[in-house]
This record gives sequence, structure tokens and C-alpha cells, in this order.
Amino acid sequence: MESMRYDLVIRGGTLVTPAGVVAGDIAIHEGRIVAIDPEVAGGANEIDANGLLVLPAIVDVHLHFNEPGRTDWEGAATGSRALAAGGGAVFFDMPLNSTPCTVTAREFDRKRQALGAASIADFGLWGGLVPGSVGEMDELAGRGAVGFKAFMCDSGLPEFPRADDMTLLDGMHAAARLGLPVAVHAESESLTRAYAAAATGRDARAFLTSRPVLCELEAIQRALLFAQETGAALHIVHVSSGRGVAMAAKARAEGVDVSIETCPHYLFFTDADFERLGAVAKCAPPLRSAAEREDLWHEIAAGSVNIVASDHSPTEPSRKAGDVMDAWGGIAGVQSTLPVLLDRGHHARGLSLARIADLVATTPAQRFRIRGKGSLAVGNDGDLVLVDLDRPFTLSDCDLQQRHKISPYLGATFRGRVRQTLRRGETIFADGSITARTTGRLVRPS
Ligand SMILES: [Zn+2]
Repeated sequence: MESMRYDLVIRGGTLVTPAGVVAGDIAIHEGRIVAIDPEVAGGANEIDANGLLVLPAIVDVHLHFNEPGRTDWEGAATGSRALAAGGGAVFFDMPLNSTPCTVTAREFDRKRQALGAASIADFGLWGGLVPGSVGEMDELAGRGAVGFKAFMCDSGLPEFPRADDMTLLDGMHAAARLGLPVAVHAESESLTRAYAAAATGRDARAFLTSRPVLCELEAIQRALLFAQETGAALHIVHVSSGRGVAMAAKARAEGVDVSIETCPHYLFFTDADFERLGAVAKCAPPLRSAAEREDLWHEIAAGSVNIVASDHSPTEPSRKAGDVMDAWGGIAGVQSTLPVLLDRGHHARGLSLARIADLVATTPAQRFRIRGKGSLAVGNDGDLVLVDLDRPFTLSDCDLQQRHKISPYLGATFRGRVRQTLRRGETIFADGSITARTTGRLVRPS
């Protein structure tokens, strides 16, 4: 190896590797990590990482870039740039709110082509599970879908109807046979409908009243039972409560194949913030109490939460204005995952850097069997993020790379700033600017 001249050497960083946090150099050649050592030989290019933390780049398993069909809400060009600015190199796009939704092989192919042309990050695609779509699952699996997403309550979009119990059961049987997970938005349709009918007013408090934690718990319980019955792998997206996590973790200890995801906004904001901020902070399940937020942090510290994903769900500005009950439910925060975990997790609560790498990169890649992604290891893709761990910054709209500069995090101060993001050895973001020259490609379960 002495004569080898590497394409790139990242020199002198603090590296968060599966073997521990170590000081050293990383050599990248032809897009892959080829050496991690205290000191490696020279590269054709070098990046000085002295004083910086080097983490595996984020693998964001849950977001909505809305392409094709609703690129006026976001699109993969701007969405992937925002992901890169937040330290991400891979994302999984949900089957909605692109339109038509990704429930057939034809729509999968259309989305793959659109994202392959527009995205600067690598991407996986979720298939949808809706009434009548179980027969499409084989073909979607053949195309490389990472799994199948179902709603247990109204999705907010008529073209993506909720999965009734039999659809969910049939879908889980099919997914178990295909060896792919089913992801559920777990809120009870009958309970959310009844609570919404009883809620008075049009403000944030009314929306909170319409979706109490109980709605989430009832749906999680039922999804766990169905997963146990069918043998399917279950992924519960955006769990908003410590009790929801605890319920699923208990089932996992008893043998149910379940992974638990939460989102940065449940770890950062509370229901009081929602009342202050209004529609920009509206999401479902809604933001919870300060006590519930602390319970979630405890479940993270205990190792019960497997994955943190952004659930970036942007829309056009007019849908985030006015009446909270009518506003679009979704928080556009794809750039803020690492700052939230580094500042509120590491600095404020002592969460280890190794655990943060697990939550945003390593476990996401493992759970969905994306080989070569998610950790700093020889043989893996050169997907990594350089972070200035102690550098404070206040998020302003000029930092945001997303299409519409609407984010509940605007004005928030964090310690831990993303400096540079690499995807397969290519710097796609550096010092505030997008630098990508090539586009991303499809990743699929191995
Ligand atoms: Zn979502």
C-alpha cells in the first residue's frame, strides 16, 4: 500500500467509529473508506479536520421531498441540499406526499428517475401500503423498496387512504414473506376522529386536544399485536411519547421485531412552543408536554429508541398560514437533526457521540440492510460529516437550503455546527455552501 496515492485524506479528526471515538486519519479512494489509522499516507486531496468531529453522515429514513408531483412544496433538489447542509448523505423518501403516491412499480420507477436527476444525496424509496395495494408489494420489493408505509389514521391526503385493520394485516403477511419492514404512522383513527369532533376552537390548543397520547398508544399496541401475529418486521415512525417507546420496547424484549423512531422536534419543542409558534410547529402526532419530552430523552439514554429521523414534511407557505386546525401538519426540519442531538442531547444531557452516530446513521443502515452506509469503517462508502462540536450558531433563514424558509427552529441557538458533508468521498456541502457536482443514486436492501 506504500505506493498508493489516495484520492482523499481527512487528517487529524476525532473520529466516531464503531470501535470507539479515536483520533486519526481517514483515507478515501474511489468513493470508499480504505483506511482509518492514527496516521495514513498522503492523498491527492486533503481535508484538515483538526479540532473537528467526524461522524458517519446521516441516513435519514423518514422524510417527504414530494417529488414528483408536489415540487412546489419542496422537491429533491432543494430537499437534498438541506439534508446535506444538516450532515446527511442518504435519505429514504416516503410514498407520499409525492403524487401520484408510490404504491405501484410504475410510480416507483418515475420517482427513482426524478430523484436520480435532482438529488445530490443517495436515496432509498418507501413503497406505500393502502387499501387495494397489497398486490403491488412484490413488484415494489423487486424494484428495491426499503419497506412499506401505512397510516393507521387519516393521512391528510385523499390519494393516500389509511390502512384499515385487514389491509394492515394482509400487508404485514406479504411484507413478512418479502423480508421487508412495514412502517406505521400509529394514531388511532376512531379516537382521533372522536377527540377532533369534541375539540372546540381552531388554535393549537384545540389541535392538541384532538390528538392526546392515548391515540398513539392504542395504535402502537394494535400494530405490535399484528406484527407478532404475522411475523412482520415493524417500524413505528415518529413516536412522540416516552410511554409509546416503552410499550414498543417491552414488546421487542418479548420477541416482536420492532424498531422505534422518534424525531428531533419531539426532543426539542413542547406543546407550549406549539401554542407560541402556531402552524409552523404543527405536526401529527403533535408536540407534547415538557415531562413527555424528558421521558423521550430518558428512553433514548436507555437505548430503547433505535432511530432518530427528521420526518421533514414541508409545504407551500399559504398552507402554513392562518387557522392551525386547517394548516398543513408537518415540520420542515431536515437540517436540524444533528444540531438538536449535539446541543440538547450531547451538551445538555450527556448523550454520547457514539450513541448519536447509532441513532442517525448506523442503526438506520443496519435496520434497512443498506450495505456500505452508516458507519466509519473500512470498505464502507465515504459518507461522513465534519462537525465543529463547540461552535455555537443561531439558525437563520440564510442557513436554510430548503425551498421555503419555514422552520420552527429559526432563531434557535445550538452548539455543534455542521462544517462539511461528504457523499461517497465527494464534498457535497462545505462552510455554508452546496458544492456537489454529481447526483445521488438509489440504495436498496441487500
Ligand atoms: Zn412523515
